[in-house]
Amino acid sequence: MNKITNHMPTAELQAIDAAHHMHPFTANDELAKHGARVITRADGVTLTDSEGEQILDAMAGLWCVNIGYGRDELAEVAARQMKELPYYNTFFMSTHVPAIALAQKLAELAPGDLNHVFFASGGSEANDTNIRLVRRYWDLMGKPDKKVIISRKNAYHGTSMGSASLGGMQGMHAQGGMPIPDIVHIGQPYWYLEGGDMSPEEFGLMRARELEQKIDELGEGRVAAFIAEPIQGAGGVIIPPDSYWPEVRRICAERDILFIADEVITGFGRTGEWFGSQHYDLSPDIMTVAKGLSSGYAPIGGSLVSDKVAAVIGREEFTHGYTYSGHPVAAAVALENLRILEEERIVDHVRDEAAPYLAEKWHQLADHPFVGETTIVGMMASLALTADKSVRKPFKASPGTVGYMTRERCFGNNLIMRHVADRMIVAPPLVMTKSDIDTLFERAVKSLDEAYKDVKEAGLLETAD
Ligand SMILES: *Cc1c(COP(=O)(O)O)cnc(C)c1O
Repeated sequence: MNKITNHMPTAELQAIDAAHHMHPFTANDELAKHGARVITRADGVTLTDSEGEQILDAMAGLWCVNIGYGRDELAEVAARQMKELPYYNTFFMSTHVPAIALAQKLAELAPGDLNHVFFASGGSEANDTNIRLVRRYWDLMGKPDKKVIISRKNAYHGTSMGSASLGGMQGMHAQGGMPIPDIVHIGQPYWYLEGGDMSPEEFGLMRARELEQKIDELGEGRVAAFIAEPIQGAGGVIIPPDSYWPEVRRICAERDILFIADEVITGFGRTGEWFGSQHYDLSPDIMTVAKGLSSGYAPIGGSLVSDKVAAVIGREEFTHGYTYSGHPVAAAVALENLRILEEERIVDHVRDEAAPYLAEKWHQLADHPFVGETTIVGMMASLALTADKSVRKPFKASPGTVGYMTRERCFGNNLIMRHVADRMIVAPPLVMTKSDIDTLFERAVKSLDEAYKDVKEAGLLETAD
């Protein structure tokens, strides 16, 4: 067999890929027809593909490459750690320096008394840990009936059976017997398409109070926890109305339930604070982290756990753990990533420079005839495509038809901007400069112009009844 390299012709790489590689969230037959885009290198905020195209990555990989690509420091730390101690487990009363140092660093950075961490290899695993943690907590508290976890429709918490059940994605639940028992979903604070005649503030309160109603309906004695992303990411960058989080906070404070903030996307600077919980002044009992924890350079995630919960869990053996919990190479890489975020003041850069400039540009897109609303917090933004700016309504075409056409135009213009149904979203590396943001904006406008024309010509510029 020939060695496969970056220098092989693209078509050959694509054919081998289609023959043997099953892609996530992909119809592989469809992919085989088109051929996957082969990414060969990356530096800063720019990807290079096998055809030599230079692509602006306004999604930071999958919302994770917070410090940007090509930081040699992380490669060097990984190589050093692999030579010194490539692997050892943290079961059976063992530990190692990278896990110790990263746990301490996370306790220092995390808000409140989230002083403990249970490591995983990503966000899905960490959320599975959270399901077990909260149920175990109530068992040990002598309340074994408190098992139900309340989540939200259109939430994204990962793809394992547990985390996908926590998530509120119908398309995922439809494939494989989910949600698993004792996970229920309330409405999302998505005003643009679900708010009807209500003001955003009224709607935010209403959606927050669904939590209270659900707790009453189930009985507080059955509810273990509420889980939510401070800002829904994969659901379409849904930024809740200002009234939403204060009301949820009130409810959580009044009720004897735990609150899990899934900060896999909103953590590590994305909102202009270290954590979304600081942006919204939340005090979670457990926080899920992954993605930006290592800027995607190594697979690592974890559950940050409060003193209160950790003290109870620690009473007896917690029969849970992953072979790679606290993996030394991943932990060392994460630690170096946090050092860079901190020493280069990247979170300040987001808050004081990059995010305000991106917001200024992003909101200019609201003038486009194809754009119904623009929303942004920090370095995560979305816009609603629309056939008619005077109403807040979906397209007549099935959700995602128009969004997909727009995404294709973005790809064609060397801009990675994703679509979720008919919202376009960006979450670029946090290190973007103003000039990178100008490039993003130029390519976005060009892509929107082209897609608008395509959609019109295809007769799809029509609002649902
Ligand atoms: C990506 C994501 C996850 C899942 O993380 P993986 O590392 O893909 O398992 C969980 N929660 C949120 C909010 C995410 O965005």
